[in-house]
Amino acid sequence: MTALLETRGLKAFYGDFQALFGVDISVAEGETIAIIGANGAGKTTLMRAISGVLASDPDAILCRGEPIGALAAPDVLASGIAMVPEGRRLFPSLTVEENLLIGAYSRKVGPTWTLESVYELFPVLRERRSNPATALSGGQQQMVAIGRALLSNPDLLLCDEISLGLAPVVVRDIYAAFPRIRASGASIVIVEQDIGQALKVASRVYCMMEGRITLCGRSSELNRDQIHAAYFGAE
Ligand code: ATP
Repeated sequence: MTALLETRGLKAFYGDFQALFGVDISVAEGETIAIIGANGAGKTTLMRAISGVLASDPDAILCRGEPIGALAAPDVLASGIAMVPEGRRLFPSLTVEENLLIGAYSRKVGPTWTLESVYELFPVLRERRSNPATALSGGQQQMVAIGRALLSNPDLLLCDEISLGLAPVVVRDIYAAFPRIRASGASIVIVEQDIGQALKVASRVYCMMEGRITLCGRSSELNRDQIHAAYFGAE
């Protein structure tokens, strides 16, 4: 079956600096995968390349078999791939609701997500809807970033380090929303430094190191030693 998303030998550069060296991943329809790896492994770069923020080889990224590597970020979004960026990147002077509605501008035709259903997913955002985004806690801001991405009705949601800097109880609340997101039919890619969290939420995991995939496997079948070697390199 054709994958929803596939990268084939994906390379990425910042000027002369090569950050990705031929990355192959695939995400099936309805699947949740995790990308793990230490700081600087290339996880964010991979997300940026897929979402069109960073230029890449036109044929190295495929959505349902169609090359999308040449598309600019707004066109990638319109084709159904939405990113929750590291650091959330909300508009600080806009209210919660205004930030959410930005996601709806690039709406893909689809029945799934509305302001109302995002407020059902994260009820605290309804209470805070008229507050500026900066008045929210880090966890609530992360909810806004996820809700904004959902309002574009994505087929694939890319989540870059959504638990970074948040208390465990807050992380738990955010991940509690994932079954509902999956039930909407979306596939999910999560980038996580918390390996336990990655194994819990994803059915398959890729590990990256220095711009390469060093391990790929089903979460239920990977063991600690394999992950340790792929994450830090063999001793
Ligand atoms: P982190 O967990 O710290 O976000 P990461 O796995 O997401 O790490 P990337 O941010 O993708 O890693 O970085 C991969 C490599 O590319 C690193 O060596 C980093 O220093 C480099 N890099 C990232 N962004 C830039 C940039 N804008 N310009 C130059 N080099 C960059």
